[in-house]
Amino acid sequence: MIVVMDHVAVIGAGVSGLTCGVLFAERGYRPAIFAKETGQQTTSGAAGALWFPYDAEPAEKIIPWALRTFEMLADLAGVPASGVAMIELRQFSRTGEIQIPDWAIPLGARPLPSSVISSEPGSEVEKSLTVRFGEFTSGFSLRVPLMDTTIYLDYLAGRFVEVGGQINTNIRFENLEEVDPKFDLVINCAGIGARELVQDFDLEPHRGQVAIVSKIDNLSCAIVCDDPPLMYAIPRGNDCVFGGTNNLSDNLATDPATTHRIVAECSRVLHIDKPRVLAERVGLRPYRRSGVRLEREKLRDGRIVIHNYGHGGSGFTLSWGCAREVVELVPL
Ligand SMILES: Cc1cc2nc3c(=O)[nH]c(=O)nc-3n(C[C@H](O)[C@H](O)[C@H](O)COP(=O)(O)OP(=O)(O)OC[C@H]3O[C@@H](n4cnc5c(N)ncnc54)[C@H](O)[C@@H]3O)c2cc1C
Repeated sequence: MIVVMDHVAVIGAGVSGLTCGVLFAERGYRPAIFAKETGQQTTSGAAGALWFPYDAEPAEKIIPWALRTFEMLADLAGVPASGVAMIELRQFSRTGEIQIPDWAIPLGARPLPSSVISSEPGSEVEKSLTVRFGEFTSGFSLRVPLMDTTIYLDYLAGRFVEVGGQINTNIRFENLEEVDPKFDLVINCAGIGARELVQDFDLEPHRGQVAIVSKIDNLSCAIVCDDPPLMYAIPRGNDCVFGGTNNLSDNLATDPATTHRIVAECSRVLHIDKPRVLAERVGLRPYRRSGVRLEREKLRDGRIVIHNYGHGGSGFTLSWGCAREVVELVPL
C-alpha cells in the first residue's frame, strides 16, 4: 500500500515552524500551522537573528545545518521584502587571541587588523565607529546574513499563506495526540514549549534579554563579544538591537535594570551617548542538553511525528538546514 502523507500539521509559528511550513507548502503538501503564539510574540521575535552558530549542540550536526542555512539566507538577501541582508560581523574576544573556527574560513573569515582592535580615540577608524580603545584583545570579521525579525517572520508567514498554507493561532496543545486526526503527519516545532508538550526535560530555557534602540549613526557592522559580559550591537534598517544576557531562567518578564546595564555597556564599548530605548524583549532560547532533536517517531495513535526543536541560540542559523532535513525524513 502506498501511503501519501499530504495533510501536515506543523506545531509552532516561530522561525522553525514557519520555515518548515514554507518548505512543505512549496513542495506540494497541504500544511497547516497551529500555535499558541505567532511571529513577534514567540522567542523568535525576541532574537537578534544574526547567522552564527551559538549555544546549540552537537557541533558535528550544527555546522552542516548552519552552512545549508547560510546558502538559503544569502540568496534571500537578494529579495528586499524578506528582511534579510548580508552584514559584516566583527566577533571579538576580551581574553587573548580569538580562534577563527575552521568552518568560517571558507566563508571568508579573516582576523581583524590591530588598527581596528586598538584604534586610538579620534583616529580615522575610531571616527568610523568601531569599538572603544583597548576594549578587546583580538577579533575576526565575516559577512553573514542578518534577519530583521520585524520583517522576516512576517515574510515567512506571507510566503506560507501565499502557497495555500493556513495559520491557526491561540491554540495550545497538551500533547500531540490532540492534533486533529485528519493530519497524518505532525511536525513538532514547539521550541521551549516542547518541555511540556512532549515532556522533554532535557530542554532548558536560556533566557535572553535585548534592548531595541534607535538607529546608531555610522554603525554599519555587527559587533559581538561572547566573553563575559556578553555584548552585542546589531544594526538593522530602522533600529539597532543591543544585547545581551544568557542565563538559566524561565522568567519572561523584562527587567529594567538589565536593560539599563545592556544599554550602558554597549554605549560604553561603542563610545557613544546612550541611545533611546524603543522596546525591550525577552526570549527563552530552547537549549537541549543532548542536542537539537530532529528525528522521526510514532505517536501513541500510530501517526508519525517529526520533532524539530532544541535549537538553543541558533534557531535562525539552523532554520533552513533543519527544515530541509525534516522534509527528507517524511516517509515515502
Ligand atoms: C535574546 C535572543 C537572541 C537570539 N539571537 C539569535 C541569533 O542572533 N541568531 C540565531 O540563530 N538565534 C538567535 N536566538 C535563538 C532563536 O531565537 C531561537 O533558537 C529560535 O527562536 C527558536 O525558534 P523556534 O521556532 O524553534 O521556537 P519559538 O520561536 O519559541 O516558537 C515556538 C512556537 O511553538 C508554539 N508552541 C509551543 N508550545 C506549544 C503548544 N503546547 N501548543 C501549541 N503551540 C505551542 C509557540 O507558541 C511558538 O509559536 C536568540 C534568542 C534570544 C532569546
